[in-house]
Amino acid sequence: MKMPKQIKTYCPYCKKHTVHDVERVRKRKASELRAGQRRFRRVTSGYGGFPRPRYEGREKPTKRIALRLKCTVCKKSITPPTQRAKKFEIVEA
Ligand SMILES: [Zn+2]
Repeated sequence: MKMPKQIKTYCPYCKKHTVHDVERVRKRKASELRAGQRRFRRVTSGYGGFPRPRYEGREKPTKRIALRLKCTVCKKSITPPTQRAKKFEIVEA
């Protein structure tokens, strides 16, 4: 999937269509101080239990592409629903 660097879409803050900068959201390293990470550490310590990663046996052929659209007028960001794609690139246009 190819995505232009800027798209025109609805901004709920400006309440109209404006130009948005497209940015791909990348996974960052989980902070050990975050509540979710602390819970994960507590729950996965010791014997057995559910929230351990289940080995799937293969890599999924498509990945979810998380984007962030930043309004160029009010500088606020919106997160559109994710879509799946094999390949993804942001192209100049
Ligand atoms: Zn806006």
